[in-house]
Amino acid sequence: MAVKPRYRAWFESLHDPSERYALDEVVYTSRDGGLLQVVHDMDALRQTSGAEWRRLFEERSHRNEWPYGSGVWGKKEWVCPEIDGEHVVSMYEGHSNLFWAERYGREIGLADLWIKQCGNSHTGSFKDLGMTVLVSMVKEMIARGKQIPAVACASTGDTSAALSAYAAAAGIPAIVFLPRGKISVAQLIQPVANGAIVFALDTDFDGCMEIVKQVAEKDGIYLANSMNSLRIEGQKTVGVEIVQQFDWEVPDWFVIPGGNLGNVSALAKGLDMMVELGLVSRRPRIVCAQAEAANPLYLSYQRNFAVFEPIAARPTLASAIQIGNPVSIEKAIDALRRYDGIVEQASEAELAEACAHADRTGLFNCPHTGVALAATGKLARRGIIRKDDRVVVLSTAHGLKFVDFKVKYHSMTLEGIASELPNPPIELPAVYQTVRDTMLAEIERRAKH
Ligand SMILES: *Cc1c(COP(=O)(O)O)cnc(C)c1O
Repeated sequence: MAVKPRYRAWFESLHDPSERYALDEVVYTSRDGGLLQVVHDMDALRQTSGAEWRRLFEERSHRNEWPYGSGVWGKKEWVCPEIDGEHVVSMYEGHSNLFWAERYGREIGLADLWIKQCGNSHTGSFKDLGMTVLVSMVKEMIARGKQIPAVACASTGDTSAALSAYAAAAGIPAIVFLPRGKISVAQLIQPVANGAIVFALDTDFDGCMEIVKQVAEKDGIYLANSMNSLRIEGQKTVGVEIVQQFDWEVPDWFVIPGGNLGNVSALAKGLDMMVELGLVSRRPRIVCAQAEAANPLYLSYQRNFAVFEPIAARPTLASAIQIGNPVSIEKAIDALRRYDGIVEQASEAELAEACAHADRTGLFNCPHTGVALAATGKLARRGIIRKDDRVVVLSTAHGLKFVDFKVKYHSMTLEGIASELPNPPIELPAVYQTVRDTMLAEIERRAKH
């Protein structure tokens, strides 16, 4: 039997391949102040053929062998190869469902529209995919004798939920910095329940980020934000998983909402590895969808990415992407260039109506997914996405984390939004005749639409 090659990965500067660090070093940026990326020894990975990788990933999928039963760790050699299986902290994340949104697709003129439900996950968002890798590495570092008193993040809600859950599972203290009053109750209660030290600060996300950077730098707290590129390694499995779910057929389009822009970069990175290692031979196109209120990437795209200027993000219902100065901007622009990318935006009314419309077809969307659905609809109407193209929309969080927004939509109290599809409960006395008359009238009224 052939000897298994030794798989290796390391941090590397985006601009200088000679600047490298081990993955268990506490380092977040390169000497020039830019982000680091995780680079894999591709020659070692290439000793296994594309067909063999496909077979291996399929064999591990939905099985129980630790830690390969996780959708992320089933691709361990591509993610974080040197970590000891014993130190992996996993909730068997990944394997979220991908389904044909037949009715919604038909209603917006697309015959082959699919939704990847990344929010059907342990803490209700795709952030679990990255956090399993980061917290596992911290557990390994502590086992190797590194002094790490706690892990911390600034968050618009979902990162802190994921960090708190994985840290609690590992018995590692977690600290989260949240913008006070700017996240949903469901998002706030998760770190509270998981026992993290929760700070609600009188600032926005960018202000929380400034604080967490300082505690990382001055107090030796390990930084869990996506500027830590370990998270990207877990998140990048989503594209591989989707293509695997299509029996290794590459769809025509991926549509993904973007805020700090780590996830769009991760999606592209996973797809890159599939092409480079011969699992697939073509590249899809990628659409990054932004809220109009927080659209710095969209503005840059309008100028062919010749310039990028951070903006002050305005409030948006899509609160997890209310970010004006995205940390992964450089990686995201590179990714969109490689994938013939498009950036589209959605107004508050467009995202709310897209969510409500899709919900009527059986979905239950978070507002960020609404941004992606609205962008998809706009590109379909313009004929850029064609009727028979296969399109995958990445739904980033579970709708149940964002019910406040739906309650307001259906009670028609969202400022500046018409609520074209309101469906408030009908309040009546419990009298059969009254209920019956109203019910029959309602059935008739709805049949006409
Ligand atoms: C974090 C998050 C995003 C944005 O991802 P980025 O990597 O910051 O672009 C989108 N949707 C939801 C629900 C999120 O939690």
